Amino acid sequence: MDKVLRQLPQWASDKKAENKKFFAKLRKKPPKDLDYIMQELHESEFERTDCLTCANCCKTTGPLFTNTDIERIAKHFRMKPQQFIDAYLRIDEENDYVLQQVPCTFLDTDNYCAIYSVRPKACREFPHTDRKKFQQISHLTLKNVAICPAAYNIVEEMKRNIQL
Ligand code: SF4
Ligand code: SF4
Repeated sequence: MDKVLRQLPQWASDKKAENKKFFAKLRKKPPKDLDYIMQELHESEFERTDCLTCANCCKTTGPLFTNTDIERIAKHFRMKPQQFIDAYLRIDEENDYVLQQVPCTFLDTDNYCAIYSVRPKACREFPHTDRKKFQQISHLTLKNVAICPAAYNIVEEMKRNIQL
């Protein structure tokens, strides 16, 4: 996995123009069964992918924390939401709460998440490849293929499977 993660940014960069073209077409005319196709591609990729050998999302980008996330995680630590914010979060350029630092503070040994049962919604859903109306998050996916090997493989499979 380490070798893949080292090469992934270059692979993503090599595919960038092709992916942009593909997603532009997908946005214009998404197949009727796109939600179903994405569900299948996502499930089959994650049957092969062991996130515990990777954790690149936790190491290189942090999630956004919604107010509900903050309340839930603060409660888990028996902290007040504001105490949790002061200890771990900052506000980014888009006015969202994000981690003060990456790798994520809650990334434990052996790539386990120390707050797995209460982790942010964005962590539960990353890399969002089973999201409904997937064509609407193509800008985000273009970035995620450089971070997440599973997202990279799913996009490559999409290009092989979806004729536009
Ligand atoms: S979601 Fe993607 S980047 Fe995150 S651990 Fe799994 S394979 Fe790696
Ligand atoms: S909260 Fe957990 S799943 Fe989310 S980035 Fe941190 S370690 Fe990873």
